[in-house]
Amino acid sequence: MIRLGEFEVTSLYENRFRVDGGSMFGIIPKKLWSKIMPSDADNFVFLDIRPLLIRTGKNNVLIDLGFGNCLDSKMKRIYGLDQNSRLLADLDEAKITPEEIDTVIFSHLHADHALGGLGFNRNGQVIKLFPNAKYYAHKYELEDSLNPNERTAAAYVTELLAQYEEIQAVENDGRIVDGISVLRTGGHTRGHMAIVIQSAGQTLIYPGDIIPTTAHLKPAYIGAVDTFPLESLVQKKAIMDECIKNNYYMAFDHDSKFEFAKLIKDNDEIVPVSLFE
Ligand SMILES: [Zn+2]
Repeated sequence: MIRLGEFEVTSLYENRFRVDGGSMFGIIPKKLWSKIMPSDADNFVFLDIRPLLIRTGKNNVLIDLGFGNCLDSKMKRIYGLDQNSRLLADLDEAKITPEEIDTVIFSHLHADHALGGLGFNRNGQVIKLFPNAKYYAHKYELEDSLNPNERTAAAYVTELLAQYEEIQAVENDGRIVDGISVLRTGGHTRGHMAIVIQSAGQTLIYPGDIIPTTAHLKPAYIGAVDTFPLESLVQKKAIMDECIKNNYYMAFDHDSKFEFAKLIKDNDEIVPVSLFE
């Protein structure tokens, strides 16, 4: 947990999953990326899933929710999910009940970000785990997740997303609740958003999958899964510049070492510095 002005921000650990290493680094040769993110014999890299819990004093907000437990066994096998979602256990540890969550903001609606708010009831029906929350995603993300194409379909689970019934469509950048605003980046998906958290002069940026791990602080290290990689490039450079210039913190959604970091420029490299050292 970190304090950000008057807010408390906790990086949760929802689960860990695997993806093909190449899909995370696009045109970068394995010889280079494997130095900073090791892969197994099948070329898989392992990613943590780190939703954010923000307690502002007025609102209890979750940013992204992870995979949850509702995927079928085939999907679980594909993603190497061999343990259950830890989201509710993490919230319990943070001493907050699911009923107290009033706002959920999705950076985008890929399965590893959007399905963690769903569970099963005793009769095996899918239910929402945060009954009092309002859910937000960008309008383009809602459109694209409902009408995926041959290249984007694998990342969305449309029939489970429909179980949320109502996700508010964000049309413009700006405030969702006091101190928390969104900024459409595009890049990873057309409707992907970064989340900006500000309190008492301190700022934390959650860039979502535009900069999923500290290995992606190198500008050209952009996933092949990104729909608009050149947009990702422009956006990630702008976000990193802002962070360095203004001393903003960054939260990483898939890093296994850094939950949060400050960024510094060391010669031409951008280097993460832990907030806990
Ligand atoms: Zn992701």
